[in-house]
Amino acid sequence: MTRFVDVSAYLPDGRRTPGRLGPGQLTTVPLEVVSVGPTELVLPEVTVRDERGVPLLDPNETQLLSEPSQGGGPRVTADEDFQARVFGLTNTAVNAQRMLRTMAELLGQPLPHLLIRIGMHESPRRWRGGHYRVAARSYDPPEFGDAQVTGEIHLGGGDGQIPDPDGGEPYFGAPSHNLAIVYHEIGHHVCRHTADFRLNQLRPPTEQTNKKVAVDEGTCDILTAIMLDRPDIYGWHRATTPEWERRRRGLHPRWTMARFEGGSFDPHFDGTIWASGCWTARESVAAAGYDRARFDRMLLQGLHLSGALPEDGRSEEERTKLALKQRRYVSTLLEALLAADPELTDPVLAGMAAHGIHPGASNVALREAALAAKLAS
Ligand SMILES: [Zn+2]
Repeated sequence: MTRFVDVSAYLPDGRRTPGRLGPGQLTTVPLEVVSVGPTELVLPEVTVRDERGVPLLDPNETQLLSEPSQGGGPRVTADEDFQARVFGLTNTAVNAQRMLRTMAELLGQPLPHLLIRIGMHESPRRWRGGHYRVAARSYDPPEFGDAQVTGEIHLGGGDGQIPDPDGGEPYFGAPSHNLAIVYHEIGHHVCRHTADFRLNQLRPPTEQTNKKVAVDEGTCDILTAIMLDRPDIYGWHRATTPEWERRRRGLHPRWTMARFEGGSFDPHFDGTIWASGCWTARESVAAAGYDRARFDRMLLQGLHLSGALPEDGRSEEERTKLALKQRRYVSTLLEALLAADPELTDPVLAGMAAHGIHPGASNVALREAALAAKLAS
């Protein structure tokens, strides 16, 4: 049995550049819930819980409307900070349900129930980030207790101030208010249960790995861009970071395989190349007269296809070793996309080629080819 509760949330406002006033359009949304507890919202797809021990919600209310209060934090009153925490819960719940339903529709099947915990890792200092965790032998940073086997998201309680480019009041860096962070972390849940880049399905359930590869981070960024319908996904909270810096992580034509680093380099930055290639391919699909949702479906179906372990004559150990290596390659995932919807081959290959991404090559081979092409031009 579910019921509807009216709650406050930001929704993407349809602008292709980030809004200046906040992370989205402030809206009242009817949210389908299974139950409401003092610190949590249980929905059919996801449970969102504040872990800081302060009761925030009245389980009997039919409306949970609150003000974002500039994200709360130390600059506002205690009552405004309370409002901002309530808003963090409802905003995360609305956007998690929105994304998980979109993903399930594109995949043709639901994902395992997700848990999102807000206010984690509060010491030694409050945290403005988020991460996705599956059950593992050890965690970095350390966790108190095991993560769910099927995966959970941790969002910090927030830290620092996001300056307003127009000189207005700054916004507290609360990740539960930030659609891009919420969508990106849910992207990891999608990847874990489809492409499974690190083959966690083959490990004992409580001995999975939480290390992420570049193509995983990049896939989370393109899923974020699809949900926001804009390429400059972190442009709201990184407005002061120039667009040409990698730290901005905007999806942009400038990011090609010539910039791929690999090794111990931050997988988020290398991932931007794959995410940018996907964005260009999606626009190229639209220019060829198809709906952009056709690319989105191709991406989800491709992720699903690439998660299967092919049966061939090799031993399981050999197949696992090879699959682990190949799942790091952007070309492996590209090939799965093409297999998922062959009719889109031409526009997708054209879009990907602009970023030096082609089928049938390792990431390093793509980098060498992109560098050679750059020298020749
Ligand atoms: Zn990530």
